[in-house]
Amino acid sequence: MIQLETVGHVVRIAMSTRWSRAFGYSVSAYLTRGVLIDTGFPDVRADLTALLERVKPSGVILTHHHEDHAGNLDSVVRKKLPLSASPLTLAALQPAERAGMYRRIVWGTMQSLRQVSPVFEHDTMTLIHTPGHSADHHVVWDADRETLFAADLFLGVKVRVARPGEDPRALARSLRAAAALQPRTMFDAHRGLVENPVSALNAKADWLDGMVAAIDSKIAAGQSDAAITREVLGKEDYVGYFSGGDLSKRNFVRAVRATIGSGG
Ligand SMILES: [Zn+2]
Repeated sequence: MIQLETVGHVVRIAMSTRWSRAFGYSVSAYLTRGVLIDTGFPDVRADLTALLERVKPSGVILTHHHEDHAGNLDSVVRKKLPLSASPLTLAALQPAERAGMYRRIVWGTMQSLRQVSPVFEHDTMTLIHTPGHSADHHVVWDADRETLFAADLFLGVKVRVARPGEDPRALARSLRAAAALQPRTMFDAHRGLVENPVSALNAKADWLDGMVAAIDSKIAAGQSDAAITREVLGKEDYVGYFSGGDLSKRNFVRAVRATIGSGG
């Protein structure tokens, strides 16, 4: 299911299925200046393809390789729509990452990228590398309109779970870099329009830095990941169990331990 909502000069394309909603998930792509930002997840392919037919975007910008953002890239490529994506993202899609069972249930299974689209360049919107959520994560910055398409950079201030491959230290740095752009408007891929973006981004960076410092001190004291998880982040919730530990508090602690000495 796709729902369109116009917010100023931006159209939010909110996508979900009965399955994704059952687990509390939806994701949004955005249409601005005739350009599509992200492509949704595999299980909404038919709706997204119909939308592409109708709006005929001049190009597509991809923020990162996760299946709820890059999930319909093969439809974009088949239509030979020009594409802007970082080499890191394209590399992560060839072949597509093997997602855990819960991700395939929620979003569907992604196709590997076998062809490439022509390169899309847009003079007013730029992809900015903001690693942390994933190594290839980018935001899209429309400087003229001071509008940030933040993809999965924000998601909420206190996100206590992490996927494998997340880096909370890098994420905090990316959040501060995004805040330094002074966006007046920010769209999150899951929450939509976020009020007071600069303070939201800085609040999340502050919260993350506090969590990382608390975990660092317990690591230095020789505590185990299990003990640190329990003491700093609390018990795993249903997502941790349902995802088989793929999206879990334990991963947050592991990520902090794995990135000791990486600066910031
Ligand atoms: Zn993501």
